[in-house]
Amino acid sequence: MQLSLIIPFFNEEKQIPCTLEACVPILEGTGQSWEIIAIDDGSNDSSWQELMKAAAKDKRIRVFRFSRNFGKEAAICAGLDLAVGKAVILMDGDLQHPPQYIPQMVELWTQGYEVVEGKKSTRGKESLFSKLNAGLFYGSFRKLSGYDLTNASDFKLLDRKVVEAWRELPEQSTFFRALSLWLGFKRASFAFEVAERESGQSKWKTSGLFRLSIDAITGFSARPLYLISLVGIVLFIIFFVLAIQTLVNYFLGKAASGFTTVILLQLLIGSSVLISLGLIGVYIGRIFTEIKDRPRYIISDAVNMIKPADPNCCSGSIVVEEKCMV
Ligand code: UDP
Ligand code: MG
Repeated sequence: MQLSLIIPFFNEEKQIPCTLEACVPILEGTGQSWEIIAIDDGSNDSSWQELMKAAAKDKRIRVFRFSRNFGKEAAICAGLDLAVGKAVILMDGDLQHPPQYIPQMVELWTQGYEVVEGKKSTRGKESLFSKLNAGLFYGSFRKLSGYDLTNASDFKLLDRKVVEAWRELPEQSTFFRALSLWLGFKRASFAFEVAERESGQSKWKTSGLFRLSIDAITGFSARPLYLISLVGIVLFIIFFVLAIQTLVNYFLGKAASGFTTVILLQLLIGSSVLISLGLIGVYIGRIFTEIKDRPRYIISDAVNMIKPADPNCCSGSIVVEEKCMV
C-alpha cells in the first residue's frame, strides 16, 4: 500500500459523500495504490451510516467509529495507528483542505521529502475576533515554545518513517500541528487557499479554542512557570520601595496614610497569587492526565479494517474484533 488518506468526521452527514466522491478520483489519478481511513469521531447524526455505505461500495475505504467524541487530535492519532500506507496524508473532512493538492504532495514525497505541509495562504472567511485570537495564540506560542506555527495547518503528508516516529511519542494530549514540527525530518511546504466550508459549520467554539491554546502552550513550554518567579521579583521590588517610603514616614512622625494603596496592593497580590496557582494547576492537571495513561481513543466499530501492523504499539483501544475484512 502506497498512500493512506486519513479523514476525521464529526457530525458531517451531509459532507461525507461529497468529500469521499472528491477524494477517490484524485487518489486514483496518482496511479498509486491507496486506502482512505475515515474516522467517525462519535457523531450523533447519521455520519456513521454514510461511512458504512461508502465502505460497502469500496473496500479501500476503511471506516472506524469512536465510542464517543474524543476530538480531532484523537482521530488523527487513530488514523496514524491504523494507516498502513508508505505515505500518510491528513486532511479535514469538510473540504477546507482541497484534495486537489494531493498529487502535488505525493510528487514532493516521491522527490524525497518526508513531511509535506500545507501552509494557509489565506485563513478563509473568519471574524475579526477569531483572527485576533489566532494572532495572539501564534505570537505567544512562538515566544514561549520557539516554534512558529503561523499559517501552519493539519493538511500534511507524512512518510512512514515519520509516522513510526510519531507513534513512539508517549503523551496522551497531543497537538499534531506542533508535534509534527518538533519531529523534524526533511520537510517541504506548499501554499493553499482555505476553501469555504460547503455544509455544516466549524466545530470550534471560542471556549474550546481557548482551552486548546492553553493546552498547546503548556504542552510545549515550561516558561509560563518561570514567568511566575519573574512576577514575584517585580512585586518584591515594588514592596521594597513602598517599605522604605512607609518606614521613612513612620520615623518622621507622619501617620501612615494611603488606605487606597493598601487596597490596590491587596488586589494586585491576591490576583497574581491566584493566577500563578491556576497556572501551576494547569501543569499539575497535565501530569494527572498523562499519569492515568488512558488510551487516546476507543474504537467501537470498524469496517474493512486491516489490523495495525503492531497492535501493541497502538495508542488507542480497539474493542471491535470482527467485521475485519482482511
Ligand atoms: N472534527 C472531529 N472531531 C471534533 C471536531 C472536528 O473529527 O471533535 C473534524 C471535523 O469533522 C472536520 C475536521 O475535524 O473534518 C475539522 O473540523 P472543523 O471544520 O470544525 O475545524 P476548523 O476548520 O474550523 O478548524
Ligand atoms: Mg473546517
